[in-house]
Amino acid sequence: MSSIEGKFLQIFGAEPDLVAAAPGRVNLIGEHIDYSEGFVLPFAIKDRTLVAARKRDDSTVRIASVQRRNKIITVDIADVKPGLKGEWERYALGVLWSMDVKGGVDLLIDGHVPLGAGLSSSAALECSVATAMNHLFDMGFNLEELARLTQKAENQYVGVPCGIMDQSVSLMATTGSALLLDCRDLSTRNIPFDVASHGLELLIIDTQAHHALTDGGYAERRASCESVASKLSVKSMRELTMTKLDSSRGLITETEYIRARHAVTEMKRVLDCVEALSSGDFATVGQLINASHISLRDDYTVSCPELDTAVEASLLAGALGSRMVGGGFGGSAIALIQASKTTETIHAVEKAFAEKKFKAPRFFTSLPSQGAELLSRR
Ligand code: ADP
Ligand code: MG
Repeated sequence: MSSIEGKFLQIFGAEPDLVAAAPGRVNLIGEHIDYSEGFVLPFAIKDRTLVAARKRDDSTVRIASVQRRNKIITVDIADVKPGLKGEWERYALGVLWSMDVKGGVDLLIDGHVPLGAGLSSSAALECSVATAMNHLFDMGFNLEELARLTQKAENQYVGVPCGIMDQSVSLMATTGSALLLDCRDLSTRNIPFDVASHGLELLIIDTQAHHALTDGGYAERRASCESVASKLSVKSMRELTMTKLDSSRGLITETEYIRARHAVTEMKRVLDCVEALSSGDFATVGQLINASHISLRDDYTVSCPELDTAVEASLLAGALGSRMVGGGFGGSAIALIQASKTTETIHAVEKAFAEKKFKAPRFFTSLPSQGAELLSRR
């Protein structure tokens, strides 16, 4: 009996019918272009969230999380609608609502994705619950439908206006691959990203910094891209090229120009990265990751001293490439490193942070891992 089944038995007094899991994610490249109809190239990390579930023959939903002291929250399925007050359990209840689950269920969550570190523990939670419900109630949703339903749960039930990247990769990723997601039509393609057999590894550096700019800063970047699109009569940055942007430079402000330049060049970097991965050219992948960081730092101006320090220190320690990931102004960076240099790189980044008197960072390593799956069923 795996430990989550044992805990479930202790908490709910019966064995679960099944156990499902879904991972967190990191975006390798393609930052701040999801809302510009660009491409993103995330991969699933090894850390994942487990959920044990048991069908009930009434309409009661009971839910507990190991990360929330196993406290049982009880609600009737008929009351599970947006607007129902709650805390962390809304991420799970939102999925029951968006999937239109009708019957009662007992759920135990055990999450191994660090919460709030930019690794998408929220999508891991939603997608593990969705996978469990899909099997438990034989709902027959495919992965694309589950991605839309879990995104709907986070958007409309929890109230977080996230895109569809996190849920897509948590559901669709496969071991040793990254997931190319076209944000224009939501089509996906698995791209071999076999770092392990090249002796490489991904080091995730959580700077633990959170600068206040996050909300307004994000809206301002997005508005710049929309303004450029409107002034240049295109639907999104996806329709621009550097030639077209340069020839229209006089029609937009200098700030709009550099924001658009990030979007246009970043979209190309994602496709170049896919190309480099197809030939196992990790040196080029590293250079593209570096170029992404420089563009985010200088053109999009969403980096911060902690992120720049993490990137510079890991590169000095020999990383092939390093960049900030996520919205910016704090959060995490990733570095593509030789697996044999992990400890050395961690020490170099720790030292650089200490010298600048920054809060100590947290480190996670990962290989591109498997997406959501059913682990066991009685
Ligand atoms: P991220 O997705 O980057 O980790 P979010 O703020 O989007 O950060 O999501 C984190 C939230 O998701 C937590 O504050 C909590 O409400 C919920 N959550 C995720 N995993 C768990 C878990 N294992 N147990 C309880 N709540 C969880
Ligand atoms: Mg999240």
